[in-house]
Amino acid sequence: MGNATLTNGSTGAKPSFKVLIIGAGTGGASLAHALKQAGIEVMAFERDRTRTSGREGYRVGISPDGSRALHACVPADLYDLFVATCARSPRYFNMYSEHLQETLSFGGADLPLGDDPIESEKTVNRSTLRQVLYTGLEEVIQFDKKFTRYEQNANGTVTAFFADGTSETGDLLVAADGTNSRVRQQYLPHAALEDCGMLSMGGKMPMTPEARALLPQKALAGMSMFFAPKGYGLILHVVEFNWDENGAKAGASPRDKELLAQWCGRRYDHPDDYIGWGFWAAKQHFPVDPLKLDGSQLIELTLTMTENWHPNLRKLMAMTDPTTVYPINIRTSVPVAPWPASNITLLGDAIHTMTPGRGAGANTALRDAALLCQKLVAVRNGELTLLQAIGEYEDEMRRYGFAAVQKSQAQMSGDDAIHKPVIGDLILHTMRAGMKVANVLPPLKRRMAAAMFAERNTDAL
Ligand SMILES: Cc1cc2nc3c(=O)[nH]c(=O)nc-3n(C[C@H](O)[C@H](O)[C@H](O)COP(=O)(O)OP(=O)(O)OC[C@H]3O[C@@H](n4cnc5c(N)ncnc54)[C@H](O)[C@@H]3O)c2cc1C
Repeated sequence: MGNATLTNGSTGAKPSFKVLIIGAGTGGASLAHALKQAGIEVMAFERDRTRTSGREGYRVGISPDGSRALHACVPADLYDLFVATCARSPRYFNMYSEHLQETLSFGGADLPLGDDPIESEKTVNRSTLRQVLYTGLEEVIQFDKKFTRYEQNANGTVTAFFADGTSETGDLLVAADGTNSRVRQQYLPHAALEDCGMLSMGGKMPMTPEARALLPQKALAGMSMFFAPKGYGLILHVVEFNWDENGAKAGASPRDKELLAQWCGRRYDHPDDYIGWGFWAAKQHFPVDPLKLDGSQLIELTLTMTENWHPNLRKLMAMTDPTTVYPINIRTSVPVAPWPASNITLLGDAIHTMTPGRGAGANTALRDAALLCQKLVAVRNGELTLLQAIGEYEDEMRRYGFAAVQKSQAQMSGDDAIHKPVIGDLILHTMRAGMKVANVLPPLKRRMAAAMFAERNTDAL
């Protein structure tokens, strides 16, 4: 074990220490890369049995903030692979009524998207991102390792115990085990998760000519939101990758072609182009509990709840592959008051689960990983003790993490007036009228788009 002092004193010697990461999702795997690159001893433990075990393949939007953090964590060639395996950026961001009438559409010059490999918005398939992140961590991540509990030892070390009866001891334990974190349940048992009063269900269908024919051009070239009475909403992502069954598509850069040739050859996970959707409503509007239904039943339920919607949207939902459909009970963490720093810390959803309302959860987990590594490098350099580093990391992480939680919650609450009868419809009509006015005023649209994208910047928190 290392000699990193846990107190405010200095050991004199250059500290060496061992970090144990529980969970190798977006945040945990990024931290593992960052520490490995910094020459800090690290082991990660993932409960999934293999690197390709049943992963949800929903779309994750990575903001420039998230990309900057990821770039700081992973080796340069892995970052290039991440960029090559991203889907094409949406060229339109549209708002429609449930009758497929456009109320507002941003496109072209309205969107501050850009194609800089770091400073641009990106779309990635969740399971593809994870498999990219596992590359180069073959010696660091152990799969099929379900963490059960930890013990803090008298000598300042910490031991993690696993369901298979094994254990591992290190100097720092990082909880990166997601929303239902076992580490958090033991370490901060008072940290609570709350239902937001909203349920969602979503799935995907292959991008076939039949599916294409159902959507307007702008929807096919981007991301669309549909707002309907009673606060019902639908998001539709058209996700197109830079590859097809023959490898890299025409138009990919020579570097991307080279990387994709290697990537597609590995046959990990490179899904075909697809249309993904997510439908949400306040809990009280669901006639049955979607959390108890299978894929086909969830499609039926969505069709029942959207009976008077445009037939093309309903056809699309009916075409969804039932094996891809899943329900979500939208939850949020409740901000926790500061706790004393120790040899246990947390990152990502394990401490600040947020609603998907702002698409900020993965971006914030990446920011945590980059920040925590930066602080641990200061320990390695003898500039901070481990306790000081964890204290500084946690102060900052709590500030921006819980600010993001609150902003994300404000976007998805079943108590909002929009979900209520009469007043909800009034709000919807006013919103639509405002959007239609903005839609014909390009300077106003551009300002709205700039504000929307700036809002995704976690530095603003
Ligand atoms: C539908 C949907 C859309 C989203 N869209 C976006 C988006 O557009 N942009 C965005 O930024 N965020 C988005 N998010 C949120 C984002 O997916 C999460 O915030 C992000 O994955 C959190 O990363 P994490 O590393 O903290 O946790 P996770 O990625 O959940 O990783 C946790 C890991 O820990 C492992 N684990 C759990 N328990 C144990 C255990 N006991 N022992 C060992 N391992 C364990 C799990 O198997 C998992 O691999 C979305 C979420 C949803 C549900």
